[in-house]
Amino acid sequence: MHIDIITTLPRLIESPFSDSILKRAQAKGIVTVNVVDLRQYSTNKHRTTDDYAFGGGAGMVMMIEPIDNCIADLKSQRTYDDIIYMSPDGQRFSQAIANELSLKQNLIILCGHYKGVDERVREHLITREISIGDYVLSGGELAAAVVSDAVIRLIPGVLSDETSALSDSFQDNLIAPPVYTRPAEYKGWKVPDVLLSGHASKIEEWRHDQSLERTRQRRPELLK
Ligand code: SAH
Repeated sequence: MHIDIITTLPRLIESPFSDSILKRAQAKGIVTVNVVDLRQYSTNKHRTTDDYAFGGGAGMVMMIEPIDNCIADLKSQRTYDDIIYMSPDGQRFSQAIANELSLKQNLIILCGHYKGVDERVREHLITREISIGDYVLSGGELAAAVVSDAVIRLIPGVLSDETSALSDSFQDNLIAPPVYTRPAEYKGWKVPDVLLSGHASKIEEWRHDQSLERTRQRRPELLK
C-alpha cells in the first residue's frame, strides 16, 4: 500500500510513522507513507497556501490551486483508489472503514487547517471525506495519522501475530476480552484460574463469553 499525506505542516505527522508498528511496516516494504508538503505547490513567492474567506469573517481558507496542483502531480505518478479529505463533517471513521481501506493500493489523505479547504476542493478534487469523531481539531494531521494507523495495522504481515488484529475490539462487532500477564497474583489480585489452566478450548470459550458480556455492558448497540 502507498499513502500520500498532503499537509502544510509535515513535521506534525512524521513522528507517528517513525516508531513501532508503523515504522516496521515501512521497513518491511508493506507500506510506504509519503508526507507531501503542500507549500511546494504554492505559486506565490511566500509559499502561502491559504487566503481570506470571501464574504469576510475570522479564519483563513486553504486555496484550491496548490491543492489541485499537488493532487495532479501525485495522480501523474500513480492511480489512486481514494482521495480522502479529513473533515469533522465527513463519514464517521470506524473499524469497518479501516478494514475497507486496508484493501486499497494507493490513497491520498488531504489534511485541512484553519477554517478548512475551499469548498470547490471538496466538490471536484476528492473522492471521500472522513471524520474521526464529533469534535474539531486544529488540523487534519492527527486525524490522518489515526486513520493511517488503524488501516496499516490491518494489512497482512504488519502485525507479527496476524490473528491479533482479528481478536481486537470491533472486528466481529465485539469488544475484546480482558487480558492479563505475570505475575499471576499481585497484592492479592488474581488472574482468572481458567487462563492458567492450559486448557485451550476452555480459555477460548471464556474469552468469547467475556467479549459478549463486555459488549452487552459497554456497547449493547453493537449486538443489534
Ligand atoms: N471550520 C471547520 C473545521 C476546520 S478544523 C468546521 O467547522 O467544520 C481544520 C481542519 O482540521 C479540517 O479542515 C480538517 O482537515 C481537520 N479536522 C478537524 N476536526 C476533524 C475531525 N474530527 N476529523 C477529521 N479531521 C478533522
